[in-house]
Amino acid sequence: MLIRRLVGLNRIKNYTTGPQMSVKDIVKTLQSFAPLNLAENWDNVGLLVDPMTDKHVKTILLTNDLTEDVVNEAKNFQAGLIISYHPNIFQGLKTVSDKTWKERIVIQCIKHEIAVFSPHTTWDCIEGGVNDWLASAFDYKSIEPIKPLENPRQGAGRILTLATPITLENAVTNVKKHVGVRNLRLALARNKTLYSKIETVGLCAGSGASVLRGLNADLYLTGEMSHHEVLDATQNGVHVILTEHSNSERGFLGRFQRHLIDIFQNSVNVIVSSVDRDPLIVV
Ligand SMILES: [Zn+2]
Repeated sequence: MLIRRLVGLNRIKNYTTGPQMSVKDIVKTLQSFAPLNLAENWDNVGLLVDPMTDKHVKTILLTNDLTEDVVNEAKNFQAGLIISYHPNIFQGLKTVSDKTWKERIVIQCIKHEIAVFSPHTTWDCIEGGVNDWLASAFDYKSIEPIKPLENPRQGAGRILTLATPITLENAVTNVKKHVGVRNLRLALARNKTLYSKIETVGLCAGSGASVLRGLNADLYLTGEMSHHEVLDATQNGVHVILTEHSNSERGFLGRFQRHLIDIFQNSVNVIVSSVDRDPLIVV
């Protein structure tokens, strides 16, 4: 049923006789897209679960978050590799038992010979990565990282100057359409309205407050910010749009799926999870 529901790019093919790829070769390709040394120093990226199998990968499953439901989906598709944007192991595990969901995920992946790779902040900072995907909600004439790295086109967050100023109302509509949500949270800047003009947008996929703090822009767009962070922005004259954390990231997976299909030339199935979703909904 699950397989039949999937259409378009998620069509699964049988590659039992066709070419397949080793985890090692796929990881090499992933690292040429976004080198692991670009990760923030607090992050945990790369091949986080390695079942050390000789079995070659026929199917790669892309997900924003690795939950037990996503692991079941990977098992159904007989995926040999999960690319989970957020690392499934972050603070370290003291044991690998059935007591917590994160430990069970590691056990299930090893048992079913599923490797897990997490790119996280390496995808945020690269050109053509998660933040650039989020920026394409807008028609802009210039784009720059808020915190550039040595290569000035890479870095955390993005500051955009729009091609033509739009109203906040239009900005909300664009963001809803781009990230695929019917509702989001909006905070109006002090003394401004839904019809005030937006010329500059500061954005950061995920939890963007530390990157956006103090940035001069008409609008901040991110996944989540605390009450005090939102208050600080609006009192400083900046509107805030919050999509919920993973809704500001997940849409990049479709773009990355097309990239992998191009690179692998149909030698491996590349599927985007259909059960991965943000735990929060705005009702
Ligand atoms: Zn995130």
